Amino acid sequence: MLGWSINLFRIRGIQLAVHASFFLLLAYVGYEGWREAGPTGLVWSLITIVAFFTCVVLHELGHSFMALRYGIGVRRILLMPIGGMAEMDSIPRRPSREFLMTLAGPAVNFVLAALLGAVVRTFPDEISYYTLPGLIYQLFIANLVMGCFNLVPVFPMDGGRIFRAILATRLPYLRATFWAASVGKVLALAGVLLMLFWFEPAHYLGALLFLFILMAGDTEYRAVRRREMEDAHWRAMLARIYSPPPPLPPPLLER
Ligand SMILES: [Zn+2]
Repeated sequence: MLGWSINLFRIRGIQLAVHASFFLLLAYVGYEGWREAGPTGLVWSLITIVAFFTCVVLHELGHSFMALRYGIGVRRILLMPIGGMAEMDSIPRRPSREFLMTLAGPAVNFVLAALLGAVVRTFPDEISYYTLPGLIYQLFIANLVMGCFNLVPVFPMDGGRIFRAILATRLPYLRATFWAASVGKVLALAGVLLMLFWFEPAHYLGALLFLFILMAGDTEYRAVRRREMEDAHWRAMLARIYSPPPPLPPPLLER
């Protein structure tokens, strides 16, 4: 399903692509805007959603540029209705690198929020919805929410990765991943239940998002475990091949 995507353009060699389902989101948002305020609503809703996803791309570029600094290739940034995903060639094993690379994403949102916030401060108290000030205000809030939400320690979201990196300074990598993924799964499950039973009416899209995160966390933990087992296997093989030759029998005749 992830194959249904459309390539847009490249930024420093990184392909920006949108998943086909993204257009369903555009259609839905456009329709809702139209229903509320006719053509004005339609146009402003589409501008807002595109501006919102531009911030998502900037968040992913934060991760990606940091990855490039560490010599990690970034194949593409894929935009989906639930958010963006930067596809890296690898994830750094050194905790300090994973920490900084992960933090770079939410940091972009907080910088954007600070800049937009400075503009919002100059606005009058009452701002209407389908105007430029309205858009700037919404983007300000969106960046704050994006920055904070991504820092919730639900692995493999940014907060969960930061949590793993911190654990990995003390624990072996696999143990650190196990604990980060376990805490993440419990929180994600709590998120699913919250969305289904706390909200009136139930927030199905939110529940689906947490379910997706829950499965992604489990998948990534299994991938780390498999790689770790393969590494151990190859290390054992190499040790056998390159093991030092057995000591020579002592010479029979002493000279
Ligand atoms: Zn991120």
